[in-house]
Amino acid sequence: MKTKQIDAREEKDLAKILKPAAKAITEGKLVLMPTETVYGLAANALDSQAVKSIFIAKGRAQDNPLIVHIADFSMLDNLVEEIGEIEQKLMNVFWPGPLTIILKKKDIIPSVTSAGLDTVGIRMPSNQIARVLIQQAKVPIAAPSANISGRPSGTNLADIRQEFEGKVAYRIDGGECDIGLESTVVRVIDKKVHILRPGKITAEQIAKVTGDVVIDKHVLGKIEKDEIIRSPGMKYRHYAPKTKCMLIYGTDKEKMIKYINQQIQANPNSLVIGRKENLPYYQTDKKLELGTTLEEISKNIFTLLRKVDTYQVDIALIEGVEKQGLGLAIMNRLLRACEYNYIEIL
Ligand code: AMP
Ligand code: MG
Repeated sequence: MKTKQIDAREEKDLAKILKPAAKAITEGKLVLMPTETVYGLAANALDSQAVKSIFIAKGRAQDNPLIVHIADFSMLDNLVEEIGEIEQKLMNVFWPGPLTIILKKKDIIPSVTSAGLDTVGIRMPSNQIARVLIQQAKVPIAAPSANISGRPSGTNLADIRQEFEGKVAYRIDGGECDIGLESTVVRVIDKKVHILRPGKITAEQIAKVTGDVVIDKHVLGKIEKDEIIRSPGMKYRHYAPKTKCMLIYGTDKEKMIKYINQQIQANPNSLVIGRKENLPYYQTDKKLELGTTLEEISKNIFTLLRKVDTYQVDIALIEGVEKQGLGLAIMNRLLRACEYNYIEIL
């Protein structure tokens, strides 16, 4: 299949230019679709053959369920059983936006989509291109992050073009993703919101709406043998470059910089990924800029992780951030990228 590209970046009449891509979705083909979080590998969520081809194109484990994207509330009733009061509140406040809510699914959702679970993660994205594509296709769209499984998620087309060349009917260029990290995934258990995957919608924001929030222990912790896993995706190696990575964080910035410089001294063939303002202090010429604010860092992370292996260094030393607000999501991705090789400087 020859992949065609649609440039939707400056486009006013989205309905018109997205028509062929929407048609491809209804024909069971795959499309690379921008969202406000990361790019998605999109297919008709109700078509089990199409969904199977997502798993094949990504090399994704079959027990890792897909998130189903809708354009408006009218699509929801058909997909899920009764919606609880807390879930309804979350939808009212955070949709459209980067929040995925786990709900009891109806039979119309094929078991490949939900990986055999009786629940499904639903999200209503705010990105206009994604919304118009779903509206035009008139079906809910299953879309995991557009990356070969294990690799960092794609936040712009240039990063993922090659990975899906010939495997998708269309790639839609929507420019850089606004957020750069995947959605926050939540599930209500015994009337409490549990965060299964942190994202741009923070625990603090959710707590303001629903009261107490539980952060699943696997958000920052490694999975030990025989533990119950509430989100299958947590089990898998993710985001990690081939190069060994170490995550270093300390609230005392000077101490953190000193520690990283000691590591560079011990192994001069090191790459440092750090905050813009700290980079001048590192005694190496191999440096990559994380950004300064948490928003900038979240936008940059996946592209930076994709660059690590091009440096051919022995180790990449990556600065961490505080584990609060959006920082929790950043640290969740970085811990996994570094395979929990983490030093906290006290
Ligand atoms: P991705 O599609 O790559 O953004 O990953 C989707 C994430 O959502 C994975 O970590 C899944 O485990 C999680 N997820 C999707 N559906 C469910 C579900 N029904 N229950 C729990 N976690 C889910
Ligand atoms: Mg993913």
